[in-house]
Amino acid sequence: MKIFCIGRNYAEHAKELNNELPENPVVFMKPTTALLKDGQAFYYPDFTNDLHYEGEIVLRIGKNGKKIQEKFANKYIDAFTIGFDLTARDIQNDLKSKGLPWELAKGFDGSAIIGNFIKINENINLSELKFSILKNDVTVQMGNAADMIFSFERVISFVSQYFTLQQGDLIFTGTPKGVGALAIGDVLNGFYDGEKLVSVEIK
Ligand code: ZN
Repeated sequence: MKIFCIGRNYAEHAKELNNELPENPVVFMKPTTALLKDGQAFYYPDFTNDLHYEGEIVLRIGKNGKKIQEKFANKYIDAFTIGFDLTARDIQNDLKSKGLPWELAKGFDGSAIIGNFIKINENINLSELKFSILKNDVTVQMGNAADMIFSFERVISFVSQYFTLQQGDLIFTGTPKGVGALAIGDVLNGFYDGEKLVSVEIK
């Protein structure tokens, strides 16, 4: 199972981190040891002083495929949830400034938090999926897939030109504006359509 993540997929978020808008999806990966699910607690790591949440829609791939055409890409989405791409922003900024890869800032244990999946059905309009992220019961992020620079289909097509997608692979599709720092004791919740899909406490 592979975990892909898309960076800078919402213009307003790219702006808040002073990043240029990309011409193609920005792709990075996390190892499977980054997965945190079923409401497990996250323990604040001692290697960072600036841990950030990034609330995102996470797609689950339902069947194997490579070099998938954009027009068929939605057939490869089996389910979605809300997740958190946890980021050691201080480490990421240091690596970015040196032109180095981001793994230490993005791929550490527990940095890929996922919630309960919702199976795709005909009542779900993927192109306008809306979600919201609450930190300590205050809304900090509101996302709508319609605001993504690269659609789910474009992302799946692009990633599959390089990597064979396999059943069960996950794709974090990017975060809207409103990312921010976490402290011990914070609780993050992610909602879709009034339903809480993901919850995590920082310990
Ligand atoms: Zn992200």
